[in-house]
Amino acid sequence: MNVLIIGSGAREHAMAWAVARSSKVSTVFVAPGNGGTATMGGKVRNVAVKATDIEALLDLVARESIGLTVVGPEQPLEAGIVNRFREAGLKVVGPTAEAARLETSKVFAKEFMKRHVIPTAGYEVFRDYASAKAFLESCGSFPQVIKASGLCAGKGVVVAESREQALEAIHEFFESRIFGDAADEVVIESFLTGQEASVFALTDGEHYRLFLSAQDHKRIGEGDTGKNTGGMGAYAPAPLVTPEVMARVEEEVIRPTLAGMKADGYAYTGFLYVGLMIDNGAPSVVEYNARLGDPETQVVLPMLKSDLFDALLASVDGGLEAVPFEMQAGAAATVVMASAGYPDAYETGKAITIDPSVNDMKGVLVFHAGTRREGDALVTAGGRVLSVTACADSLKEALDRAYGAVAAIGFEGAYCRRDIGAKAL
Ligand code: AMP
Repeated sequence: MNVLIIGSGAREHAMAWAVARSSKVSTVFVAPGNGGTATMGGKVRNVAVKATDIEALLDLVARESIGLTVVGPEQPLEAGIVNRFREAGLKVVGPTAEAARLETSKVFAKEFMKRHVIPTAGYEVFRDYASAKAFLESCGSFPQVIKASGLCAGKGVVVAESREQALEAIHEFFESRIFGDAADEVVIESFLTGQEASVFALTDGEHYRLFLSAQDHKRIGEGDTGKNTGGMGAYAPAPLVTPEVMARVEEEVIRPTLAGMKADGYAYTGFLYVGLMIDNGAPSVVEYNARLGDPETQVVLPMLKSDLFDALLASVDGGLEAVPFEMQAGAAATVVMASAGYPDAYETGKAITIDPSVNDMKGVLVFHAGTRREGDALVTAGGRVLSVTACADSLKEALDRAYGAVAAIGFEGAYCRRDIGAKAL
């Protein structure tokens, strides 16, 4: 079967890599892909179609006889790509626009969790500046967490340590409209204490299979300091998510989420990402994502021993509960190499050199994010450039291998955090 992966990040490079391993897959098309998916060779090919151009993607699927499409990022999900593909009788992995509201509307997600008694922070919803201001002025304790309801590319959340900071955030959201319509509704929720981890499921709406848990590093600076980024590294499994914690996550979060969505008439299908705060073994939902996360995908997929394509197809056709879904023993780590200046302004077009020895490094996989092929050269084309991943018998060894590979890769101004996974060790 021919498969289409939609997206252009390291997440999609990892998906293409995992799907291409299946003997049942003939060609993997990536739209639009990046410099990494362009140079994988073998059965993987880039196609210059934007991830949000649904009509052009439908044409591509017809033209190339694509049997299964996998949606990487959230924007096409919000735009209803799964609805459109299903109407056209096509097989597609992802939730409908209605089901994707678990991610695309924080108000929807909070109300859903309240209705179905899924543990999460207490909250209020505001639709104008004056009432949010009045609430914050009467608020007895800080921090409070201020969230734009709509999609803001991961930037719509402010953990306000003080009343002043909280007031500034709602002013920016409602009055300066820095996120436009995405902040027409704002959630203010109480601050949760504990440690964060993520859990990923693949579901057909009723049955689900779990990947390894993971932890990411959102901040640009070592010791979790500085600005938020798309993610500077990750590892799996998260030691914090013990078998007992995972059992609680399944019982208190995953099953009620799937059952609740089905009961409400929006059966949830595809990948479900649950961002959790774990406090004394008790999980609370911080956020849902209607897709796999980046950089977590780059550690979670390499740890899947079974055929990902079989599971993806079964999540659409049925039989997901019976498909092999085994994880490797050990751990995986990924270190993101970023352009100088990221997450603020940065330059692109810098030549990337990857020493050939990297190809022979045991357990190492280099997934590309912001890269582009320019003739025979590979150059930087984004803030997060490469996601250097390694699997090994232990997290320590996986980190050593990943940093070993980082040392053999260079581009002008390359930056990475040196403390990925350090806390878990
Ligand atoms: P979100 O986009 O909702 O995942 O929020 C981004 C980040 O803000 C999370 O990864 C947490 O670090 C933090 N955060 C969000 N909500 C809360 C909360 N209720 N309590 C503490 N931290 C939070």
